[in-house]
Amino acid sequence: MRKSKKEYSDVKKQRLCAPTDEIFFSYQGEGIYAGMPQIFVRFAGCNIKCSYCDTANSQKISSKTKFLTAPEIIREAVKLYNKNKKATILPKFCGKQRLKSISITGGEPLLQIDFLKEFLPLALQEGFEVYLETNGAMPQNLKKIVSLCSIISMDFKMPSACGKSFWKEHKEFLQTASNAGKAVFVKIALTKETKLIEIVKSAEIIKAVSKNIPLILQPSLSKDKGKLQDIFLFRSIAAKDLNDVRVMPQMHKLYNLK
Ligand code: SF4
Repeated sequence: MRKSKKEYSDVKKQRLCAPTDEIFFSYQGEGIYAGMPQIFVRFAGCNIKCSYCDTANSQKISSKTKFLTAPEIIREAVKLYNKNKKATILPKFCGKQRLKSISITGGEPLLQIDFLKEFLPLALQEGFEVYLETNGAMPQNLKKIVSLCSIISMDFKMPSACGKSFWKEHKEFLQTASNAGKAVFVKIALTKETKLIEIVKSAEIIKAVSKNIPLILQPSLSKDKGKLQDIFLFRSIAAKDLNDVRVMPQMHKLYNLK
């Protein structure tokens, strides 16, 4: 039976809502799963301020931010998935017919931890695999939902770009994801301010958890881009400690995708 407007708003008041900037279908543009079709849920609000942020509009709650309940987001995600079903067909050898992946992104999605505790089980019930995109600075919050995630794409934030260091948090975060047996990889955005010592430190932290965790060096494509020879140097230095270090720009930017 349809709910009246008042009943609906009463239900909404009792539920947790999350500040949501957009829900859309696209292809993953970063990291080792680039090209994977996904539904993206972008939450508003962030706990860091990076100089190169490409989602600056989502750093804070704005007039376009909507406060949505978990069932409302799931309904929209399912609608988008059904609309783009053709794009999610997998080759037969994958053992599954379709890829049903939902990227939880931001801003910083782990700021919405209480909401995620309700939302992620619903996403799993709908058959979505959860792909978490995070700045990796809130290990305590990751611990509360790590079991519900399949893939964790975490950033290491460089002090040269964020004005603050998160080495301790990043280490604990990576350790938590790895201990939980999740497919985790690390991304570092490279700008002209990135320092060799930051790359050395990052590689040491990753190596202490596992040399096999992939590290993606993501060169900026905008006006703060660094020199090519520095990027090559960063890669070769990190590759002394780690087994899988790749240089990869944001693919969605190259193709003007969302
Ligand atoms: S952590 Fe991500 S969303 Fe937050 S400011 Fe940095 S790049 Fe932007």
